[in-house]
This record gives sequence, C-alpha cells and structure tokens, in this order.
Amino acid sequence: ENLYYIKGWGEPYFSINAAGHITVSPQGDLGVSLDLYELVQSLKKRNISFPLLIRFSDILADRLARLNASFDRAIARYNYPNKYQGVYPIKCNQHRHIVETIVNYSKSYQFGLEAGSKPELMIALATLDPSLIAPNYAPIIICNGYKDPAYIKTAILATQLGYKPIIVIEQLEELFLTLEISKQLGIEPSLGVRAKLSTKGSGRWGNSTGDRAKFGLTIPEILTVVEYLKSEENLHYLQLLHFHIGSQIASISVIKDAIREASQIYIQLAKVNPNMQYLDVGGGLGVDYDGSKTNFYASKNYNMQNYANDIVAEVKESCEAANIEAPILISESGRAIAAHHSVLIFDVLNTNDVCTTPPEFIAENDNLIIRNLWQTYESIDVKNYQETYHDAIQFKEEAISLFNFGYLSLAERAKAEQLYWACCQKILEITRHQDYVPDDLEDLEKTMASIYYINLSVFQSAPDSWAIDQLFPIMPIHRLDEEPTQRAILADLTCDSDGKIDQFIDLRDVKSVLELHRLKTLESGHHETQSKGKKIKNETKMAEPYYLGMFLVGAYQEIMGNLHNLFGDINVIHISMSTKGYEIEHLVKGDTIKEVLSYVQYDAEALLESMRQRTEKALQDHRLTLEESQQLLQDYEENLNHYTYLVSDQEKSKS
Ligand code: PLP
Repeated sequence: ENLYYIKGWGEPYFSINAAGHITVSPQGDLGVSLDLYELVQSLKKRNISFPLLIRFSDILADRLARLNASFDRAIARYNYPNKYQGVYPIKCNQHRHIVETIVNYSKSYQFGLEAGSKPELMIALATLDPSLIAPNYAPIIICNGYKDPAYIKTAILATQLGYKPIIVIEQLEELFLTLEISKQLGIEPSLGVRAKLSTKGSGRWGNSTGDRAKFGLTIPEILTVVEYLKSEENLHYLQLLHFHIGSQIASISVIKDAIREASQIYIQLAKVNPNMQYLDVGGGLGVDYDGSKTNFYASKNYNMQNYANDIVAEVKESCEAANIEAPILISESGRAIAAHHSVLIFDVLNTNDVCTTPPEFIAENDNLIIRNLWQTYESIDVKNYQETYHDAIQFKEEAISLFNFGYLSLAERAKAEQLYWACCQKILEITRHQDYVPDDLEDLEKTMASIYYINLSVFQSAPDSWAIDQLFPIMPIHRLDEEPTQRAILADLTCDSDGKIDQFIDLRDVKSVLELHRLKTLESGHHETQSKGKKIKNETKMAEPYYLGMFLVGAYQEIMGNLHNLFGDINVIHISMSTKGYEIEHLVKGDTIKEVLSYVQYDAEALLESMRQRTEKALQDHRLTLEESQQLLQDYEENLNHYTYLVSDQEKSKS
C-alpha cells in the first residue's frame, strides 16, 4: 500500500482489499464497492480485449457533488451574498457519454458548460436542455476560444432557445464582430472579457496567463472594450469577468493572488457598469496525482474546500470593502471533475532483465581484463562500493576497446560484460540499504531496471506522460498481498524509444523505477504446427496475465492521444453502480485495423484485392501452395477486423 501511495491519490475511490486486489468505491465513502481485478476477469469472459479504459459514471457524479458542496459550504461559512454556478469545460473530455453524464447529474446544481471552440459549442447546445433544468432558468454556456462569425451567430441565436450564452471577448476583433452580428440579428448578447492577469501561473500549464499569454485582454484593452461599449450605449451587454491562470495549479498561494487581482478588476468594472454579475475564475483546480499533498507539479497543497473557501472569502471581502454587490461565482473546473473517473487497464506482455549472474569460473589464463573485473566483483563491499563502481566501468570500457582492436574474442567480451553487470548488481544492492546514494550512482537503479513490455501505446492512451512528463499513478491491480521483487520501467508497443514510462510518482520527488511482481509462468504447453507438410511440436511457456492500472486518466488524455504506429482508440466501458452491484452501461469498441487504415486513406477492399493478386502470382511461381495462399488471405482479411493491440490466439479464436 505504502509503495504505491494509493491512500494519498486514491481516497475515497481506490483502495486495496484483503485479497490483494484494488477495490473501487465509485460513490466515494458511501455506496457499493467492486473488486477491480474481478471486474477485469468478468470483462475477459465477455471477450472485451485489453488495453481497456474503464469509466465510472458514479465517480463523475461524486466529483460534481463534492465541488458543489465545497462552494455551498464556503458560501454558508463566509455568508457570501450570492451563489456558485459552475460550468464543465468540454475540452477536458468531450466524449458524449461523459458530457451527457455530467449534464444529467448536474441538473440540480444548475451547472452549465464551457465551450472552447465551435464544435464544442455545438455539443453544449445539443446536450444541455434548458427545459429540463428549472423553470425560468437559462443554463449558462461560456463561449471561450477563437470565434468566427458562425460561432458568434450560433451563440447569439441560442439565446432564443432559452440558454444564456456568454460570449467571452478574448481579442478586440471579437467585440466588433459580435456587436455587428447582434445588430443584424436584433438580439442583445451577453458579453464577458477574459483578463490577462499579471499573476503568474505555475507548473506545466503556467503560461496561460501573464502579459504575453496567448489569450485574453490586457487592462488597456479591457478599458477599450468598456469605452467602446459605452460609446455605443451597450455597456450593459458586459456582465462577466473571466480569467484562467492555467491547469493543475499546484500552489494555493497562486490561486489566492489571482483571485485578489481579479476581484479588484471586477470591482473596477462593476463601478462603471452595474450590470456586471459574474466572476468566472476559470480552471486550474488541481488533482493530487502523486498523493504527496505538496506544491510539486504532480500534486497540490490544498483541497477542494480550501479552494472554494479562498475564492469565496477573497471576493466577499474585496466587494464588501468597495461596496459592490458580490458576483455569481463561476468556475470552469475540468480536471478536478473528470480525472478520477477513468482507469486504464493493460497487460504486461513479457519482461527483460539484465543478466547479473557472474560467469561460473574464471581461469588463470583468462585475459587480464577479465581477471581484473573478477577481482573487482569479489572485492565489492560497503566501504568501497563507490570506488569499485568506477573501476568496473573502466575495466568494461577497456574490454570493449580490446575487443574492437581484435584482442578479445566474442566469448571473452561476453564474460567481461557479464562480470560488469554482476558488479553493478552487487553495488546496487548495497546502495539500496544506504540513507544517501552518491550522485554518480543515482542512475544505477534505472540502468539495472527490468523492462516490462506493456500492451499499450503511451502516445494514444497517456500522451501527457510522453509529451510533458506528466505523472500518473500506476500500479498492479492484483497480487498486492505479495512483495513486488522487480524494479522496472515500462516499454510500450510502439517502435519509438520515447514510447516508455520511466518516471513514477514518489512522495519526495519522482521515482525512476516501479516496483512490480515477477510474471508467473503457468504450465508450459505443447502445440503442433505444420511446415512444408511436416508436423512440428512447439513448446510454449504461458505467463499468468499480469494487469496494471494507470489511474486518474479521465482528463485530457483520450482526445490528445495520437495514432503513432497506427495503434488506435482503445475499448472503453462505462460502469454504473446500483444497490445490486455494477452494470455495464455502455461498451464503446476501440478501432479495428481497418478503421485506423481508413484514417490514413487506405481502403480495406483495395488492400485485400492487391493481396489477392500478389498471392495469385506467388501461386503461379510455385512460391506458395494453394492452402498457404488461402491461409494468408484469410488471416489478412481477419486482421482487418481485429483490434490494433496485441490479442492472444485464444482471444482471437473467441472473438
Ligand atoms: N477554462 C479554460 C479557458 C481552459 O483553457 C481550461 C484548460 O486549461 C480550463 C478551463 C480547464 O482547466 P482545468 O482542467 O484545470 O480545470
């Protein structure tokens, strides 16, 4: 439990049960729990292949409830004279079932949606139904991002359907365009301005604010908006002030600074325009990915309640001091709502370890360099391990030079390398028991790590891990009652050396290896194949499936994933809980090979036809038998309809 810090990042949704499996409690502290490993077993029986993304709708509901409850508590505690009305930023995870689930669960909170583009606006309009929420209530749609005339026109017209679209001016041109279109339509728009705060964000997404941020208006530009609207006698259109200082804000002090600055801008705007009524604090509410509760970029040093308290208290105090009516508070929290609800499950295909067993014996007439390495190996102890490490490196390098000049045979070089790795292993064992690891030995753990090959594409399923070194908690979902003996890095299916995970969460910093279990070999079996009419007996060793989970992946990962090496979308299931247990609400099948090929303009029929012609030619040239050519064509055709990830022969025959 302590090894993977599950208490820190997993509570109240993920824990470890007595069977050594992960338990999921989608409804938080209350409600029914399920055994994740048993769920995986039952999904296998339903022929659902891995990798697989499991979405828990109830976790989404719980996150929404917690966010609203945090603001409600803060409003009550500080006697805030207005309300909170959050919006879900669709960009965070646009998948239909997710947006629909959020809209469905958030009706009672009068939650709205945020659109960052025209397609997202179209999702917002089709998903939110004003008639279903509350009488005389117009659900808020915050319209952010770049806008063309069509975006603005659709947003303004939607007012007539009962929505409250607020067009947030991020660039001055958008103001002029909006006013022109609203004049043409004869409909008054609701406007907001996005301010570029001088408060600096922090962490990976910290440059969303500041003077040279991509979006938003500087203070002189905001004044231009006010002056222009005033001159057109339309200042009452302006109702909202928005800012966004970046996602995953790790430090509460950054949030406090931003709110302080934004409150003052709001007050100044409200002084000249009594129609101001919303303060939209954007996204940024962080997720504790490593469980450390610190201001490290993968964590955050505050909780949801602290976040709500600080916003509510600061705005109340500032408005009271300035004698301005407190605004409706809006937040655009995406990550904090969506991250927890998705778990990525994948299997380990095989492993590769550095061979650290020394040669059985060293002869007196072995090359001097080998004898030196042997002596080094024999002499390693707690007092000299740092020095002997450098000796071993030097002797190994000398051995390679000797080999390159033709003075060592292949067998001798092999012996030298074997001895070198044996030295490293012995030294590593010593460092593991020291309080302090010298700088020059810091990388040894990583160098000696086992490689676990995983049935996954990091580029498709955890793109932030590859692109910006984002950390996600990763751990086995079973065998947690057994000591993990291996220290490993993970290598994915792509043939790209970046397709790996070699940074893992740690309470103090980042770990370069993950503690995992050795794969268990099941009974080896025999099967027969035919080659050139002869029967051949093959021995196969099967490993017991070993499943890992990557957690907190519900925000941003799926849509940013790419098709590197043509590994496509993975299978997704949606689970919802009832008093009787769980139910699979939806299964969204991942891409087949045929589908990913079509994304890059290959037509399956045309591919099959060219294969058919090629096998015909080979038949004529007697390079294939008729049976072999038929087998090849049949396999090719079947593969077109298969999952793009590795599927065992057993699964193939079942599906
Ligand atoms: N609002 C805007 C304008 C954004 O750009 C983003 C994403 O970065 C969000 C809201 C969502 O932020 P988060 O997921 O950190 O809550």
